[in-house]
Amino acid sequence: METNRPELKVSDLKQYYYCPRVVYYQYVMPVDKAVTYKMEKGKAAQEDLELLERRRKLRVYGLAEGTRRFNWWVHSASLGLSGKLDMAIETDEAVYPVDFKFTRGRPHKNHLYQLGGYALILEDQLGRPVEKGFIYLIPQKDAVVFDLSEEVKVECLNTLSRIREMIVNERFPQAASSRAKCTDCEYQNYCRDVW
Ligand code: SF4
Repeated sequence: METNRPELKVSDLKQYYYCPRVVYYQYVMPVDKAVTYKMEKGKAAQEDLELLERRRKLRVYGLAEGTRRFNWWVHSASLGLSGKLDMAIETDEAVYPVDFKFTRGRPHKNHLYQLGGYALILEDQLGRPVEKGFIYLIPQKDAVVFDLSEEVKVECLNTLSRIREMIVNERFPQAASSRAKCTDCEYQNYCRDVW
């Protein structure tokens, strides 16, 4: 890991928007995290989904045709960013990152910026614009499309800078904005100040 520009993962963007401390614990003060029921259930459901997804039509994504690629490790040396895409759909015109989520609610802002991070890497890796992506909601069997605009990508780049600044300076961040997030958090044993 470089001192002044740590390599980051796309999932760091999602985690940072969920709660900056999660990213802090992972990089600055690695601690054992508890595996929550939600995480285990999500992983099992995701494995089942991949089998189903291979047989599913692309209609749920509003696409007539395309080639699916699963569990794709993507990396950009210039961004210092990498990640594992659950799935990408490639057509003649475009490439779409897809993330599978085991959640009953609608996708949140952190999911949008996770897709934004994948878009930045794919654009760098493939040399083609990535303007839309999907969150596939496993319980609802539904896909939500997101516009991956320039504003989203700039915000992702700015957030990556903020994360690096936090890591390099070992700056302990504020707790999550909502205490409801702490209930499902694998780091709750380390955030005594929020309880
Ligand atoms: S317990 Fe709450 S404040 Fe602490 S890392 Fe988890 S979400 Fe953030």
